[in-house]
Amino acid sequence: MAQLDVRQKLEILADAAKYDASCASSGTAKRNSRDGKGLGSTEGMGICHAYAPDGRCISLLKILLTNSCIFDCHYCINRKSSNVRRARFTAQEVVHLTLSFYRRNYIEGLFLSSGIIASPNYTMEQLVEVARSLREDHNFRGYIHLKTIPDADPELIHQAGLYADRMSINVELPTVSGLKRLAPEKDNRRIEGAMGGLKTSILDTRDAKKRYKSAPTFAPAGQSTQMIVGADAATDGDIVTKAATLYDRFELRRVYYSAFSPIPDASAVLPLQRPPLMREHRLYQSDWLMRFYGFEPKEVVAAADEATGMLPLDIDPKLAWALKFRSSFPVDVNRAPRELLLRVPGLGTKAVANILTSRRWRRLRLDDVARLTVSIAKIRPFIVAEDWRPVALADKAELKPLVAPRKQQLELFAA
Ligand code: SF4
Repeated sequence: MAQLDVRQKLEILADAAKYDASCASSGTAKRNSRDGKGLGSTEGMGICHAYAPDGRCISLLKILLTNSCIFDCHYCINRKSSNVRRARFTAQEVVHLTLSFYRRNYIEGLFLSSGIIASPNYTMEQLVEVARSLREDHNFRGYIHLKTIPDADPELIHQAGLYADRMSINVELPTVSGLKRLAPEKDNRRIEGAMGGLKTSILDTRDAKKRYKSAPTFAPAGQSTQMIVGADAATDGDIVTKAATLYDRFELRRVYYSAFSPIPDASAVLPLQRPPLMREHRLYQSDWLMRFYGFEPKEVVAAADEATGMLPLDIDPKLAWALKFRSSFPVDVNRAPRELLLRVPGLGTKAVANILTSRRWRRLRLDDVARLTVSIAKIRPFIVAEDWRPVALADKAELKPLVAPRKQQLELFAA
């Protein structure tokens, strides 16, 4: 490995970390001010935003310890056979960078991941050392998110959790067959075993904390994972089902979906094209339906096309479900319980809360609902109000064009 200074390492290792979506800020057009004109840059990698358990948006230094790896996962730009520039920080360099950025108020925490150097245990030791040194040597109180190496010794993973706020282990692919094909050195059982170990430690320490104030904390912001979308043949139905199982079995805080992006010198087993970014967006919406709208995983899967198992891209999954199961509508905004109101396309959790509060004082008319929501046009066919009943509208075969978002004419020369 050529001798690189810290700035060069940062350039390489912050760029390499951008493929991890577990705390992603979304992509944008490339701009910079290196020519002295203007201010700021969208190109410099390294700082991303994440949400703390209390809902605050925090900025994190997002880097890899190294982009060298002894594994050869086909979808990964850092795999052993990839022809990329390699770099490696020492644990103390990461500590120094984190503290320097923190003191300058650039960041509020660290997101640290790594390729696997020498062995899973050695890599995990290095990650733990960064977190240990920050917490114990420097009394660092900021946020730390550590990516965990599932094959590492459980004791090392446990130590990491004593220093980190959040831990994450990537399941990588939604199906066992996909994982075998694209990441042959990884093993679904070991990944899920490590996630199970994290769950046990999180619950045990939470429990101990209730009884003894002095009990140590363990990953108080919980654990999360990431799935790559579009690198294998898994359908949206497979992905939604896998995510639901993971939430259920391991009490994950979040499942992140990362649309596969083609990489240089890609392996022949990978698709040549990235999946539409809208697919990733629809999966996040499905995730939301399961976590905040009371949808069962099988109901979300039922919104997908029966033949392909894919969610529609042109409309959101809640609307797709409502159009498929019209007998569940219309819903009376003056009488229906919260869980039924949440099923109405266009009604978010806030709008439903507003409706529930307002109807305590008066019976709601269509105009009242319009004032409490963003778009009454989308909602109207699915509700009953004091002065409104959609008659046969909810049964109309041609309802979709009436409620689907209008297609926008793209600019011919848009980038
Ligand atoms: S183990 Fe991680 S860093 Fe290494 S090739 Fe696989 S995905 Fe990439």
